[in-house]
Amino acid sequence: MKTVIEPFRTKVVEPIRFISRQDREGVLRKAGFNLFNLKAEDVIIDLLTDSGTSAMSTEQWAQLMRGDESYAGCSSFFRFQEAVSSIFGFEQVIPVHQGRAGERILFSELVKPGQHVLSNTHFDTTRANIENNGARAVDLPERSNREFGGNIDLKAVVRYIDKVGSDSIPLSMITLTNNSAGGQPAALANILEYAAILKKYGIPFFIDAARFAENAWLIKRREHPELTVMEIVRRVFEVADGCLMSAKKDGMANMGGFIAVRSHELCSRLKQNLILTEGFPTYGGLSGRDLECIALGLFEAMDESYLLYREKSTFYLARRLLDAGVPLIDPPGLHAVYLDAGAFLPHLRPQELPGQALVCELYLEAGIRSCEIGTLMFGRTEEDTGEEIAHEVELVRLALPRRVYSQSHYDYVIEAIVNVFERKKDISGMRIVWQPQFLRHFSAQMEPKSEKLHGEAAALGLSGAYDKL
Ligand SMILES: *Cc1c(COP(=O)(O)O)cnc(C)c1O
Repeated sequence: MKTVIEPFRTKVVEPIRFISRQDREGVLRKAGFNLFNLKAEDVIIDLLTDSGTSAMSTEQWAQLMRGDESYAGCSSFFRFQEAVSSIFGFEQVIPVHQGRAGERILFSELVKPGQHVLSNTHFDTTRANIENNGARAVDLPERSNREFGGNIDLKAVVRYIDKVGSDSIPLSMITLTNNSAGGQPAALANILEYAAILKKYGIPFFIDAARFAENAWLIKRREHPELTVMEIVRRVFEVADGCLMSAKKDGMANMGGFIAVRSHELCSRLKQNLILTEGFPTYGGLSGRDLECIALGLFEAMDESYLLYREKSTFYLARRLLDAGVPLIDPPGLHAVYLDAGAFLPHLRPQELPGQALVCELYLEAGIRSCEIGTLMFGRTEEDTGEEIAHEVELVRLALPRRVYSQSHYDYVIEAIVNVFERKKDISGMRIVWQPQFLRHFSAQMEPKSEKLHGEAAALGLSGAYDKL
């Protein structure tokens, strides 16, 4: 059979509320044109993130009942530890409430001011937690590898270590898949060679494992078809000294994460730190039932029929959009399709926030929530001149929650994007009317730049750019 079907049936349904176009305009305006401020029930298809949004399986729901909520030594912890150890090969496992808690604990133990931590690209919370300890988070992605866009640049790694000295690098990392670079995978060969370099210099190697199964699947598809996903995972992690994981991605859970390491000595330091803020080491800020869900979810994420369906869903969305001429990052990773908003709206300058204009337009068109990754997220406004400093790329991320939407939902998304693409010339830029000091994309207030906004249409709660819709 050529048709790839969802490898599951539906047992429980969550109704979608169809908010009218007119009401979408009203709530978008009220939200300051910032989709983080929308109520989720006002969204028809939610592609804001793949983090914590997975649908759980019947087995996971059943497992919830086994959750042992004892404060210390709960049996759920031992099942969790056994799952993590058997997959990743690390004996010491520390649960945390989500990925960034693990980052804070690990880096506050290992990283000192003035030091350097290398990676293909640090995820933003990873970078923030490294920098919060006074160290530098250094990104050394290998550019221009089409199949393995998540590779780390090995020559640059050696140059960097030689420049600053291995003593000032307390650990070195790789993010699988490379979330900040469009969810691109790193090749097994690249990971192994990187590990060998670090070993030679005596630098501990840690993996940010948020999408370990998706990375392993793309290694299987593009590099090692003869290996199973499980075998690839083993080969990747056996060369590492430890890993950090947000279980909200390939843990198939709605909350959770962990640190796993080989060293007993490091583990006991991490546990002392954990007790201060997260909780006792056999629950680490999670309930017993969360531990049960993750223990199973890690295996479900490695199921090859699931991964094939995941690949086909993302590639289907990307392929149909490319066929219609919509510019996007090609090939996509597995967790998201990234529209190139700069090329989609070439009449807008980066300072006019083309990504955010497109995000708003997709919501107005069809109630789709996506996420800007461009000047709103990574640019800044100069305090004295008010000048907007642009980011290097303007992207809109359509993240695919795991096991949540079916092909017809994606057909609906494709139709909406193609409709917007056909009338892209009418889309006006945006301006920021209020912003906080840090992480402005979460709470900034914006408005369309269209002149009419300040006229009668605005008084009616309709923006000039949108009153034709
Ligand atoms: C989500 C994510 C994190 C942080 O995890 P949270 O669970 O959101 O705290 C770290 N690294 C990567 C690659 C991620 O995708």
